[in-house]
Amino acid sequence: MNTTLKNKKNNHTHTIYDVIISGAGPVGLFLACELALAKCSVLILEKAVEAHSPLKQLPFGIRGLSAPTIEALYRRGLLQELEIHKHLKNPHQNAVQGPRRQAGHFAGIPFRDGDIDTAQWKYRLPSSTPTSLITEMEELETVLSRRAAILGVEIKRGFAITSFHQNNEGVTVQAGGQSFESKWLVGCDGSRSVVRKTGGFEFAGTEPEFTGYTAKVDILNPELLKPGRNVTPTGMYMQSQPGYLAIQDFDGGAFHGSAKPVTREHLQEVLRRVSNTNVTISTLHIASTWTDRARQATSYRNGRVLLAGDAAHIHAPLGGQGLNLGLGDAMNLGWKLAATINRKAPEGLLDSYGTERHPIGAQVLDWSRAQAAIMKPEPNARALHAIITDLINTTDGATYFAGRVWGVSTQINLDGKHPLVGCSVPNFEFEDETKIGQLMHNGQGILLDFNHNTAIRELASEYNQIDYISKTAKNQLGLCAVLIQPDGIVAWATDDLIETSELQKAMATWFWLT
Ligand SMILES: Cc1cc2nc3c(=O)[nH]c(=O)nc-3n(C[C@H](O)[C@H](O)[C@H](O)COP(=O)(O)OP(=O)(O)OC[C@H]3O[C@@H](n4cnc5c(N)ncnc54)[C@H](O)[C@@H]3O)c2cc1C
Repeated sequence: MNTTLKNKKNNHTHTIYDVIISGAGPVGLFLACELALAKCSVLILEKAVEAHSPLKQLPFGIRGLSAPTIEALYRRGLLQELEIHKHLKNPHQNAVQGPRRQAGHFAGIPFRDGDIDTAQWKYRLPSSTPTSLITEMEELETVLSRRAAILGVEIKRGFAITSFHQNNEGVTVQAGGQSFESKWLVGCDGSRSVVRKTGGFEFAGTEPEFTGYTAKVDILNPELLKPGRNVTPTGMYMQSQPGYLAIQDFDGGAFHGSAKPVTREHLQEVLRRVSNTNVTISTLHIASTWTDRARQATSYRNGRVLLAGDAAHIHAPLGGQGLNLGLGDAMNLGWKLAATINRKAPEGLLDSYGTERHPIGAQVLDWSRAQAAIMKPEPNARALHAIITDLINTTDGATYFAGRVWGVSTQINLDGKHPLVGCSVPNFEFEDETKIGQLMHNGQGILLDFNHNTAIRELASEYNQIDYISKTAKNQLGLCAVLIQPDGIVAWATDDLIETSELQKAMATWFWLT
């Protein structure tokens, strides 16, 4: 809720927002939607004047979404608004169809559809949303901006946050020559986050092995380049569509660090060396660089200031995980910060954001480091590459890599007794054809009771942040009852309900007793 105060000295009125978010990237926008859904007032301050950019549009802006992100969008009724995946073929997949179709990759090593044993994912139902799909940054941001506007989020473009200070009551933010006030500030301002840099956050990690290039060019002799993703003795190159290049050059990140502009001559030299061809680039249209620098804020919170998305963690875009990781942060943080603002948060709820999401971020950073390590142009890495290639071509190997890349095997450590605790709730389909994910649009927690148990119903009635759903599902996966957090993560589950004390404990940990 906005608070409007009159400043007696200069007779100006000013608004105190619940939350200021720096950055209208996908993570800032998604977080804003989550907060506004829970009736918090949100101001987004965005540096860029213009929402559109060629780097956010296809083909540069192509982004792979994994299972947790797809589920998050579906659970808020946003998935159907994404259109691009319905008509665009994933250019990262090869032309082969059927069981040998490439389903994803690790360090450029493909895993195949036919090798993945989905039966190993015991809690994934046929009614689940897809494990992966492609979108475009700009499309995603457009969909999220539209939702944010509907929910009453205020977005000010051309307002780069330059500094802020906080005290026990709130935060004062300087942006675009003006001052803004809020109870909380969340830095979603990307990899070079000003909020992180000026907010006293330690950013620990490892330095890069390579410079990555993304470029649109005209090539005189494109037939010299092989199709698909090519790991070579000096790096990696890929031509996703004619003229659209992704290159990795193991220069220790030197070129990216030099901040020199990418010229046609430079890119041609890199491409010739990495592809070991005499390829000629006649025109360079646009190019950007990136690295595999992997760093993570050691804490995601400093008082009333929090970090999410690339502001909290950076790593190579290999395997497309950064956006998915950031949206996972937003989904986790949104309901917890809202409950804190609305004075409905049990002790420690907000701090669970960092303790839960930091380890997930650390896993992704290591995943990216492991890929950089085995792509290196050196004999040790080649040997590891050969072993991973063998493993990824086995059923267990392909299933493991798919589970990690698609986020299907992601589990937050919530110390639960049931194996489902900390996992995304299966998309149970009820007898009336509705699915649990469709009942989560309002951002409430859910207590799902398959056995119509009176004790459970009474318990649920004591918590006004929880919707009690007592329905029979077509496939209940042997479960009797499930407590679901607003972000879709299972907080508690039982196959065999004997008494409700464990459920009572879980409810009090995550929700406010009214
Ligand atoms: C080539 C490439 C391919 C990728 N592919 C994938 C993929 O397939 N899948 C995937 O999951 N991830 C992928 N990623 C990573 C993904 O793009 C990022 O992780 C994601 O964009 C992070 O979102 P964000 O909102 O945290 O930050 P950003 O998208 O960087 O947004 C930050 C916003 O903050 C604004 N800002 C910056 N400074 C300030 C300031 N001082 N004040 C106010 N606003 C500010 C910026 O203008 C920007 O709008 C890829 C990245 C690259 C480079």
